[in-house]
Amino acid sequence: MVTTNLPTPDFTFDPSQLGACTAGVRPYRNGSYRLDAETISQKFIVHNYGHGGAGITLSFGCAAKVRDIVKDHLVSSPGTTEVAVLGTGVMGLTAATLLLDLGLKVTIYADRAPLQTTSAKAGGQWAVSVVEYAGKEGELAEILKTAHREFKNRIGQGYGVLERPNYTATPSENLDVVIKLVPGLIPARQSLSRLPFEHHTKRGFVYRTLLVEPPILLARLKADLDNHGVAFVSKSFASRSDVLTYVPQSIIVNCTGLGSMTLWSDPKMTPIKGQLAMLPPQPALQYLYGQNGYMFPRSDHVVIGGTFEAGVNNERPNKAVCRSLVDHIASLFGRAAVKPLSDIHIHNPFHAPIVNPRVPDV
Ligand SMILES: Cc1cc2nc3c(=O)[nH]c(=O)nc-3n(C[C@H](O)[C@H](O)[C@H](O)COP(=O)(O)OP(=O)(O)OC[C@H]3O[C@@H](n4cnc5c(N)ncnc54)[C@H](O)[C@@H]3O)c2cc1C
Repeated sequence: MVTTNLPTPDFTFDPSQLGACTAGVRPYRNGSYRLDAETISQKFIVHNYGHGGAGITLSFGCAAKVRDIVKDHLVSSPGTTEVAVLGTGVMGLTAATLLLDLGLKVTIYADRAPLQTTSAKAGGQWAVSVVEYAGKEGELAEILKTAHREFKNRIGQGYGVLERPNYTATPSENLDVVIKLVPGLIPARQSLSRLPFEHHTKRGFVYRTLLVEPPILLARLKADLDNHGVAFVSKSFASRSDVLTYVPQSIIVNCTGLGSMTLWSDPKMTPIKGQLAMLPPQPALQYLYGQNGYMFPRSDHVVIGGTFEAGVNNERPNKAVCRSLVDHIASLFGRAAVKPLSDIHIHNPFHAPIVNPRVPDV
């Protein structure tokens, strides 16, 4: 059978253009993400951080868990009418959104505006990438179910959520885990006799997942919260005691991502830097693509990424890395010379401390 090719991207790329090359730092937590509560100095603190390369994906599911924890707490603290959320990334904004369900007055504190956060830099595939969950499979399954439902309900509603096929050269652990933990949530992967692209001759796979465009999602969540009278307070916290003395609310939801490494003195937090090359948008590309790196065509850019620099905590993009990312994907389409992968820092960064590494395959 002849497979019709899907459109080939235009790989024209000028890394010196403003915004053509960006970098963000994944808030990775050894062991697993943190989603629990503690009481300190009569403040009830709910922690929601450490989601690695899957924060967009898990956000609404974790937010629902946060809402449930706070709801239970209110039973023993009747009369509490307010809650503080720390962080304007995707975890903070989604938690704040669902906390409104409890009729609480929500105030958000952060040192960055939503579009300046790590969340705004994410590629946006809905997949369980670079996050550990050993021993928490049941909880993760519930989080995935809720998150997927919340995102699906927002398709076509101005939140930047789209359904997309993802074509991969090898099975994607990050999507297979969804199929394993929550059968039927997304369709089973299909094997293909060859990937349907120019210059591709080998077997491959196609998954059906979501693409969530972070800049659109975050701006819309912020607008919704503004409309509900949620106050945003610009504040940089120096320490945990700074939080406890500055924030007047007795319930505090901590969604500070990598900030928890110092703010909560969490030694399990590890930065993992990722760089992204941003090509001009190409609306004809209605698919995601992964092969030792990924390409997510969004409405603002065609995003090419897949670098993992463990332990590196800076947001400085490197134009040569971005150039190499584009050249790598272009080479797979026969549009650039093939280079060794080691040239572009695309590798599994995980070493001994990590128990069940989610392979960054796409
Ligand atoms: C290159 C790259 C690609 C990615 N691709 C994907 C993807 O395709 N799919 C996916 O699901 N995820 C992806 N991710 C992961 C995702 O971006 C993160 O998991 C997510 O952004 C974490 O959200 P967060 O709200 O916890 O943290 P952040 O977005 O970092 O927000 C933290 C908030 O806390 C505030 N804060 C922190 N410290 C302090 C302090 N001391 N005082 C005051 N405020 C503070 C900050 O101002 C900010 O508002 C990617 C990440 C990177 C870097």
